Amino acid sequence: MFKRIHIKRSKSLFSSENNGFDEKYRLITPQLFKNQRNNLISKARHSWNQAISVFMPARCGLCQCISDSGFCQQCQDLLPWIENGCRQCGATLVAGDICGRCQNTRSEWQETIVPFHYVEPVATLIHQFKYQEMLSLASPFASMLASAVIKRCPILPDILVPVPLYTASLRSRGYNQSTILAQELGKRLEIRVADNIVVKSRQTKSQMKLSEKARETNVCGAFNVVESASGVSVAVVDDVITSSATVKEVCKTLRMSGCDQLSVWAIAKTTKQE
Ligand SMILES: [Zn+2]
Ligand SMILES: [Zn+2]
Repeated sequence: MFKRIHIKRSKSLFSSENNGFDEKYRLITPQLFKNQRNNLISKARHSWNQAISVFMPARCGLCQCISDSGFCQQCQDLLPWIENGCRQCGATLVAGDICGRCQNTRSEWQETIVPFHYVEPVATLIHQFKYQEMLSLASPFASMLASAVIKRCPILPDILVPVPLYTASLRSRGYNQSTILAQELGKRLEIRVADNIVVKSRQTKSQMKLSEKARETNVCGAFNVVESASGVSVAVVDDVITSSATVKEVCKTLRMSGCDQLSVWAIAKTTKQE
């Protein structure tokens, strides 16, 4: 069973693929219809949560006590902070401020800011934020990340670029957690979020079970810059850094478009001592 619905489409994106049917119309499958409906429900839920939050006191993202600092002080003391991270890649260091790997490798970006190890309870919170529509967690995560940024960066970047999702993944999930995180960061740090500069142009496999080398191959060439970021400083925003393959590819794409001041900001990094 198919439904024909009216969808406004961007001419610049679709003008070359008319293929004999009216550009304003598109045949959609029940699954696509369901995805679009879920997308609308998620957006409506997020807007509703934002609206009622104006009248509700801010709460700790973990224990739900009243707290205006993202996570309350007791919960902050229990969180898995990265005490000494490599300034280039964020990896945990025993001593110094840059790991051996970064000393010997040219990086696509200059600085990584990531406050947490990707272990419990942060891992579960990120999973809920990313896959279970717990979008209210964007606020406490952004507060913690913004504090880490303020401590480290005397000069803030011009724009925030969230790591994009492929269109089909965005439809299926209904939201991009990195965009929502970047928007919360942007509000706190007064930085513009540019979520239309980089696009993901093809679907990639899940990175979870791939080797480091396979992860790089998997995302190689998967991102495109559609608007020049030449001459502006950029912080690429992601939820979790594992092998860095994804942010590396996004940064490489931005660098090839003329952007030469790049940093990477994320909530958590998988633990690997250098
Ligand atoms: Zn708490
Ligand atoms: Zn490093």
